[in-house]
Amino acid sequence: MPKQRDDCLFCSIAREGAYLHQAKGFVAINDINPQAPVHILVLPEHHVDTFREVGEFDARETKRMLEFVAETAAKAGLTDYRVVVNVGATAGQTVFHLHWHILGGGPASREDVPAAVAIAEETE
Ligand code: AMP
Ligand code: ZN
Repeated sequence: MPKQRDDCLFCSIAREGAYLHQAKGFVAINDINPQAPVHILVLPEHHVDTFREVGEFDARETKRMLEFVAETAAKAGLTDYRVVVNVGATAGQTVFHLHWHILGGGPASREDVPAAVAIAEETE
């Protein structure tokens, strides 16, 4: 059984949401507030708060998670896209269940990922 949190929005969505795409242990959904013409979120069913805890997934699950991101993008008809993970509140993370943003469907703009860009600019 994947680890789940009762009070976690993405745990509930992974349990009972309407998915764009699903594979064992992972689901893909449309972002409710899209920042690009196509904006998909990939969620593992296993709850970890952030990418920092990615080591909780074993090597096979980690490979499958990355393949699932690529498969989801291909299934959405995307060849060119951006994959983003916001790690921590200062980097723009608002939902503390690991998720991968897939942004595409138009020319990439730095404004697609404002929080990440703001941090990059601060450190330039
Ligand atoms: P982050 O800011 O990286 O934590 O990303 C959280 C993302 O979840 C944001 O892009 C939100 O628009 C999206 N989001 C929040 N609630 C929902 C929901 N109920 N269904 C789909 N996407 C959501
Ligand atoms: Zn969760």
